[in-house]
Amino acid sequence: MRIDLHCHSTASDGTDTPAELVRNAAAAGLDVVALTDHDTTRGYAEAIAAVPEGLTLVTGAELSCRIDGISMHMLAYLFDPEEPALLAERELVRDDRVPRAQGMVAKLNALGVPVSWEQVERIAAGGSVGRPHVATALVELGVVPTVSDAFTEEWLADGGRAFVEKHETDPFEAIRLIKGAGGVAVFAHPAAAKRGRTVPESAIAEMAAAGLDGIEVDHMDHEVDARERLRGLAKELGLLVTGSSDYHGSRKTVSLGEYTTDPEVYGEIIRRATGAFPVPGTGGI
Ligand code: AMP
Ligand code: ZN
Ligand code: FE
Ligand code: FE
Repeated sequence: MRIDLHCHSTASDGTDTPAELVRNAAAAGLDVVALTDHDTTRGYAEAIAAVPEGLTLVTGAELSCRIDGISMHMLAYLFDPEEPALLAERELVRDDRVPRAQGMVAKLNALGVPVSWEQVERIAAGGSVGRPHVATALVELGVVPTVSDAFTEEWLADGGRAFVEKHETDPFEAIRLIKGAGGVAVFAHPAAAKRGRTVPESAIAEMAAAGLDGIEVDHMDHEVDARERLRGLAKELGLLVTGSSDYHGSRKTVSLGEYTTDPEVYGEIIRRATGAFPVPGTGGI
């Protein structure tokens, strides 16, 4: 069984539509794929309608959080997308992404970059708007060669010249909301050091005590020694260990299924979830 539990679509900052994502996941030989767009469930209906036979779709989201000034991401799986408290928080974060992206456009303009909000809006195409969309605009304008090259101090990295913060949820509140909606909470790429400061192990231990289910260990942004350290921490804290690609289509170099999750861990995630069921493919549209 090949299981990839973290993928983005055009509902946020990926480049595959939700339907293309599930088709590409099947073509890549995956048995299970999770749709985890940033702060939105907008892609669900299209993905569910298109799941090919032989593939199972896990619905989810990647929630933007912040603890002690450190941004972090919380993966939420199989929650009830209509549960009002989590829905309200998701909308708050997603909606705040718009003025925040406009703020980054203004900062870029002040730095002499002729990017416009209309351009970023066209690139985001109705998806939950984020820095990768602004970065794509910078690539279009020839300011940087690739999306990744825009994530530097010079441009859009945390604290960078054109960076603007967005509303982000306290992770303890996120865990409470995810659980309240019947979901399973997994701390995404906790050791992705090149994205900025990372959350200390003491805070991960507190999250574990507050109901965190697992941590994502096998991820392209984790060095090999960090993965081993996290595996040890997970064992110590009784946390599930996942692995996933964090696929973004052509906005990142990683491919679907490049990192995967153990079938036993997947089994435990679906046993714990009460908000939604995985969606087995029936052939799709
Ligand atoms: P935002 O949620 O708008 O703050 O944007 C953060 C997103 O940018 C992350 O979730 C990643 O998808 C993406 N990202 C962060 N660092 C990089 C990078 N070095 N290269 C490409 N994408 C990145
Ligand atoms: Zn993303
Ligand atoms: Fe993330
Ligand atoms: Fe992600």
